[in-house]
Amino acid sequence: MNALDIPSDDIVLPFQIAPSGLQGRLVRLGPAVDQILRQHDYPAPVATTLAEMVAIAAALAIALKYEGVFTMQIKGDGPVRLMVADVTTEGALRGYAQFDETAVAALGLERPSVPRLFGAGHLAFTVDQGSHTERYQGIVELTGSTLAECAHHYLRQSEQFQAGLKVAAAAYPAGDGTQRWRAGALMLQRLPPEGAQGSAEGRDLETPLDATLEDAEESWRRALMLASSATSAELVDPNLLAWQLVDRLYLAEGVRIFRPHEMTHACRCSRERVENVLRMLPPDELDTLKIDDRVEVRCEFCNRMHIFDSSDLAALRTQH
Ligand SMILES: [Zn+2]
Repeated sequence: MNALDIPSDDIVLPFQIAPSGLQGRLVRLGPAVDQILRQHDYPAPVATTLAEMVAIAAALAIALKYEGVFTMQIKGDGPVRLMVADVTTEGALRGYAQFDETAVAALGLERPSVPRLFGAGHLAFTVDQGSHTERYQGIVELTGSTLAECAHHYLRQSEQFQAGLKVAAAAYPAGDGTQRWRAGALMLQRLPPEGAQGSAEGRDLETPLDATLEDAEESWRRALMLASSATSAELVDPNLLAWQLVDRLYLAEGVRIFRPHEMTHACRCSRERVENVLRMLPPDELDTLKIDDRVEVRCEFCNRMHIFDSSDLAALRTQH
């Protein structure tokens, strides 16, 4: 496609390195991730980490090609108890975090490591493909000092494919004195090379490795090396277009850039969904939620408040 037609932000840009055929994706998020963070007033370490998580979730959701809602979630016993990012097949992104404000402030760091921020915990990926199908879940211990390392650990454990992953997020000063968040992720993937899965015992050690296998290894190493040469600043640079970055990294190898997946920020909460939850509560439990005769339910993702006054609640009960 014509490079000029490619939007520069809120996209996942797939590319393929020729002639090795290795696949890559560049996630570039501008307004979508900014809107997610602007709905909350998270301290910098929480905001940066959530922005990175949203970018990783976008990269993986598209790489794994599931239909439905893809969710990345970390639960820990540290200052941040919970962090969630989810992506729908249509490219709708959202995310939130639950944390202890005092404990996060006490860290006194702009970029605390994952263990400092989350303590010990788990990283889980779920795919919800609708009510008629089974929910897929993969869960691993939280291992790694950055989110990219933790996601990488998961991919290694799940053995779906080999991956290289680099992620960054940063806030840029806007003209009006506020800040705008941006996030980027670069991911390379390949299926385990054929023959490599076989055990070493099965192979005659006198036979040299197949030349094509060696070439594939070499291509993979070079692609990873080039990916790691992209700086964090380049991943989020508003003045460096997504396709220009891919071109800059892989032009010498030969690279094909495909039509991007467009991403947006959108929350799926609705008054109806909240009503359904409230309707399922026993009346006395519903009463305990009342403040001044009404129930207020805040969506943790988008911070929208859904308010039910006494007549709304009475109407819910009649449909009990
Ligand atoms: Zn919402």
